[in-house]
Amino acid sequence: MWALRAGALFDGHNRRGPSDVLIDAGRISAVQPTAERADAVEVVDLGSDVTLVPGLVDPHVHLVFDASLDVVSSVQAASDDELDRRMRAAGRMALAGGVTTVRDLGDRNYGTLALRAELAAQPAAGPQVLVAGPPITTVQGHCWFLGGEAPGIDALRSAVAERADRGTDVVKIMATGGQLTPGSHPHESQYTRTELSTVVTEAHRRGLPVAAHAHGPQGITDAAAAGVDSIEHCSFMTADGVARDEQVLRAIAAAGIVVSLTVGITPTTLPPPPELAARLPQLLAGMRRMHDLGCTITVGTDAGIAPPKPHDVLPYGLVALTHLGFSPTEALTAGTAVAAAACRVADRKGALRPGYDADLLAVRGDPTRDITAVHDVVAVYRAGVRVAGASRRPPAPPLGLPPVATSPLRT
Ligand SMILES: [Zn+2]
Repeated sequence: MWALRAGALFDGHNRRGPSDVLIDAGRISAVQPTAERADAVEVVDLGSDVTLVPGLVDPHVHLVFDASLDVVSSVQAASDDELDRRMRAAGRMALAGGVTTVRDLGDRNYGTLALRAELAAQPAAGPQVLVAGPPITTVQGHCWFLGGEAPGIDALRSAVAERADRGTDVVKIMATGGQLTPGSHPHESQYTRTELSTVVTEAHRRGLPVAAHAHGPQGITDAAAAGVDSIEHCSFMTADGVARDEQVLRAIAAAGIVVSLTVGITPTTLPPPPELAARLPQLLAGMRRMHDLGCTITVGTDAGIAPPKPHDVLPYGLVALTHLGFSPTEALTAGTAVAAAACRVADRKGALRPGYDADLLAVRGDPTRDITAVHDVVAVYRAGVRVAGASRRPPAPPLGLPPVATSPLRT
């Protein structure tokens, strides 16, 4: 047993003063005010200006994508061995940035299952990985090249069964098209409400949550009615604009369906794609409205899909939330406790509590007052082991640049 000490602590919901986190065999055994501790355990004191935060949780990443300008060609050209190497590197990068849990919402041919096992055996080498396998999609539909084509009810049932049998943590389905895939359009539905309901019923019967990628209003409406557990992107994009549906948003809020907002990019000179730039004011207004309506919101960055979305981009997404009306504390909770609940690991991740995994991020400053402190990484611990390579990141773009800072980019 040993203790990690800092001048302040954010436990996933609330800020506390000077605190000791007692750690034993990779888990937190106690969290208590510094003054109370009299036992002679080894103490690692990170300093009075440091705040301990639960390791961040990104519920939507793609470890197979290399954050290049053309990730589709890149993944298609890569061998399985090459993808394994890339996924390991992506995981290392995420972890060094304080992202101690990632939910991969689309690999190629279940490649993340082996990585999940590998990193479970050596936790300091990467984050906890939660696995969807290949996203379920239509023939030649959005991200078909990852190997998850399933047209029609029977194929959908088999696709869910296959994922459950292989031991995935979640089922990912492309309810609508996306921008990334040539020939696919975000506003167009790929599945009917009945098909989505079948997927949800089959997945829930096997104990798996369903994450639905959905941009178009009809796809979002159908996914919500089908009872999916999270809606990824939730942009309400139409062929030529954005058509937010307040009634659907109220239903999503009432049902507790998690909205996973695709925000957060690193400082970049790349402009957003034109079709996105034109819609940005409406997209951002929609995100604010979801917050106002009381939707359960987390940040699923889609890390890996473009150059300003490296695998450690999540802290930028939390900063972006504060440009959308979230308080710093709400943003931190969105990236820890809410994200962990969305990923079904709220019993061991996303909070600093006895019995939880000792996954911690130590930052200089007080992120509950100034969220940009999440960029000033002092140390990262995964299962109680200090991670090498943690370092300060460039500061987020200034508040004056929210359109770029919050650009969802291509998804
Ligand atoms: Zn994605």
